[in-house]
Amino acid sequence: AKQRGRNRIAVFSRSMQDKAQLTIHFENQFRRSLRNGDFFLVFQPQYALTPQPELIGFETLVRWNHPERGIVSPAEFVPMAETTGLILHLDRYVLREACRIWGEMRASLPACRALHFSVNLSASHMDRPTFIRKLEKTLAAFEMPHESIILELTESALMSNPETAARKMQYLRSIGLHVALDDFGTGYSSLAYLTRFPCYCLKIDKSFVDNITTDENSVRVVRAIIHLAHGLGMVALAEGVETPEQLAQLQDMGCDQVQGYLLGKPMPQAALRDVIARNC
Ligand code: C2E
Ligand code: CA
Ligand code: CA
Ligand code: CA
Repeated sequence: AKQRGRNRIAVFSRSMQDKAQLTIHFENQFRRSLRNGDFFLVFQPQYALTPQPELIGFETLVRWNHPERGIVSPAEFVPMAETTGLILHLDRYVLREACRIWGEMRASLPACRALHFSVNLSASHMDRPTFIRKLEKTLAAFEMPHESIILELTESALMSNPETAARKMQYLRSIGLHVALDDFGTGYSSLAYLTRFPCYCLKIDKSFVDNITTDENSVRVVRAIIHLAHGLGMVALAEGVETPEQLAQLQDMGCDQVQGYLLGKPMPQAALRDVIARNC
């Protein structure tokens, strides 16, 4: 038994070493890519249902143009970036890029009404004492109007330290910044705390939207989230809308906003101008 135990430890430590090496390789490449501009943004349109879809802004989504592997999706690298803490650097880069590109977009289409950019922030920001100061500094440096940026945070970002999160959310609101609660309903959330988080929007997760044309219970859940949002003075945005049937159903249920492949996939900056010009 002792022998087996020792072998097991040997195997265990070898895989630990492999893992450590992988992590170091990942970190080195990630930092290099941040310096070299290998990360870039794509933009997915968001619409208000009035009740016909009307363009109101874009969610910014990051892509990694990896020197060896080509375009890598955030689903693959965000978890590793979170455990290594590098996500903080990435999100700062994304926010700066979003502000820069928003400014370019406004300058090239002055006749169109202003559209917002909605930026994803990892949960780790909420626990950083310098989060708000850095955020304000970046927005000021780019002269980014606060009403034109939305911060997408997940429930878990707020629930790790709800008291602090509530205070920060109140401050964000006081300076005119909107927060959307991302992937709502999929994480650990407390309805009691929800009343203390001054959010602008609940984003209904795609997993609920997927089933609203086939499953009565999903319909009930989505309807309940929409009512909850309205009751708390928030808007409800459904993400991952892929079919006309889903869109019609959401319009029926009084959902305020939508995004999804049906109305627009994430697109490169070069495509923004045309989409906006067509919609303004
Ligand atoms: P998310 O914030 O929930 O973003 C929505 C994801 O669903 C995006 O995937 C989007 O491309 C995809 N999507 C939108 N509409 C549809 C649809 O109709 N059908 C399907 N099948 N998919 C749809 P993406 O771009 O791969 O991003 C995945 C996740 O990575 C995001 O989920 C977000 O949590 C994270 N992420 C992306 N960019 C950033 C970033 O700049 N910072 C941080 N911290 N996380 C990011
Ligand atoms: Ca998001
Ligand atoms: Ca989401
Ligand atoms: Ca998600």
